[in-house]
Parts: sequence; structure tokens; C-alpha cells
Amino acid sequence: MSAAITPTIGDPRPGYGLRVRKDGNKALAVADADCPCGQFSRAATGDVEVESLVIGYGRHRRDQCSIPEIRAAAARQYAALQQTLSKRRK
Ligand SMILES: [Zn+2]
Repeated sequence: MSAAITPTIGDPRPGYGLRVRKDGNKALAVADADCPCGQFSRAATGDVEVESLVIGYGRHRRDQCSIPEIRAAAARQYAALQQTLSKRRK
């Protein structure tokens, strides 16, 4: 066994983004979100809390993030999502 220290914190890209976890219908949903800009870092437990975290993270990325690339990517994702939703309604 090597005793190499693998940094999980401080890595340039330690898994930024949104993670949502829910094991089966009865399990409590948990989620955490981290934005590379460092202005949005939250965790949530429970269906309602997770949902509001997902929405808040999306809004941050689209409207509030200080990184232009993040805002541009989020705007594209939102546009794609709205297309999907409007197709589904027909
Ligand atoms: Zn951000």
C-alpha cells in the first residue's frame, strides 16, 4: 500500500458542479453544489431543499456568476431545457 496523499481539497478542479443523490423513493435526497467562482457553495438535505438548491444554483450560474464562461454555458443549457419542455407539452 502506498501512502500517497491524494488531495481532495485544494485540487484545481475538485468536482465543481451540482451533485444530487437519492437512493430509491423513500431515501432522503441530498445535494451539494459548488461553483468555480467560489460565490456559490451550498448543501441541502430533503426533497424541497434539494429542489430549491438546484434552482438556486441554476440561477446563480445564469445570472450572478462572475465567470462569463459559466454564464454562457448556463444560458445555453436553459435554452436547451426550455426547448425540451415545450416539445414535451405538445
Ligand atoms: Zn459562480
